[in-house]
Amino acid sequence: RKLGVALLGLGNYSTGQLAPALQQTKYCRLAGVVTGSPAKAAQWQKQYGLPAKNCYDYTTFDRIADNPDIDLVYVVTPNALHAEYVVRAAQAGKHVICEKPMATTAADARRMIAACDKAGKKLSIGYRLHFEPHNQEMMRLGQQQAYGAVKHLAADNGFKFDSNGTPWRVNKKLSGGGPLMDMGIYCLQGCIYTKGQVPIAVTAKLTPETGTGYFKEVEAGVNWQMQFADGSVADCRTSYAQNMQGRLRAEAANGWFELEPAFGYGGLAGRTSKNDGKLNLPNINQQAAQMDDFADCILHNKPTRVPGAMGLRDVQLLEAIYRAAETGQSVSTKDVGQLVDHP
Ligand code: NAD
Repeated sequence: RKLGVALLGLGNYSTGQLAPALQQTKYCRLAGVVTGSPAKAAQWQKQYGLPAKNCYDYTTFDRIADNPDIDLVYVVTPNALHAEYVVRAAQAGKHVICEKPMATTAADARRMIAACDKAGKKLSIGYRLHFEPHNQEMMRLGQQQAYGAVKHLAADNGFKFDSNGTPWRVNKKLSGGGPLMDMGIYCLQGCIYTKGQVPIAVTAKLTPETGTGYFKEVEAGVNWQMQFADGSVADCRTSYAQNMQGRLRAEAANGWFELEPAFGYGGLAGRTSKNDGKLNLPNINQQAAQMDDFADCILHNKPTRVPGAMGLRDVQLLEAIYRAAETGQSVSTKDVGQLVDHP
């Protein structure tokens, strides 16, 4: 039997990526939805052949507890709402995938982990690139020191936010922050899984468009640096004021390796200073791979490589980067711990 997935929040990512990916998964299938819009519920029932009894709104959602067709709930709402729906899904006895960033505060992230632990349900974060061949190879080349120890990392990711952008992304209450929460988190993740270490300190500066135009409540961009225990550093940039390719580059003692674009849904490409073809890899359906891996973890009671604890780690680091930008001081992240995904 394939595990039944209910998508909660039927916006761009559910519609454009997750539902199509669920047509390609081997161990799970789209079995239901949770939406505030009756029109969307009707449309999804028709398009995906979903029974009406598997479609919920945000008030009837808790009744999902009595529905054996649904094994796991995938929370795909604006960031600040992740906590409430993850907790309710766990209380309804369902496993959970939560989109990135896991939460807008570390306190919320801890509450979400506690709720899933208490219910005895698995929790994973929508970190699709941990299941993507190019990014997995960056992880391997960096952590196994294929070109020597990684001394320097550089990453950028961003896009120009305009009138087509979803308004919640620049609403601090719903987003928790601007491009750092949304796009910069890929740089943070990429540098950590390539280096194989969690930084011990961060410094940061908001970009000058902050406070103007769309960016009254959230930053327009951030440039930040992460320092690692061995003295190596990662220079990162994110923006809603500028289109960026999405780049992840590592310079090691005996050579460099990089992805550009690094973080998109497809078309990823990489190269190394040795021209050895190590990053000439296929592009795959990342979301299908991610959801199948989690289904496999549930079916065989294995730990996920992208657990709630990793989501919490990243929320703590995001908070530290904002604090560094606010104070202009270096902020220690030693208390975040050293949880890393290994190849
Ligand atoms: P979106 O705005 O397109 O969709 C959000 C959905 O949540 C909408 O259908 C909206 O109706 C619903 N919603 C429920 N309650 C709401 C409320 N109170 N206010 C506003 N909307 C509400 O956004 P999206 O791009 O689909 O992003 C959703 C989540 O997925 C975000 O956390 C985002 O960071 C994440 N995301 C992840 C990836 C990835 O590659 N992993 C890509 C895109 C988005």
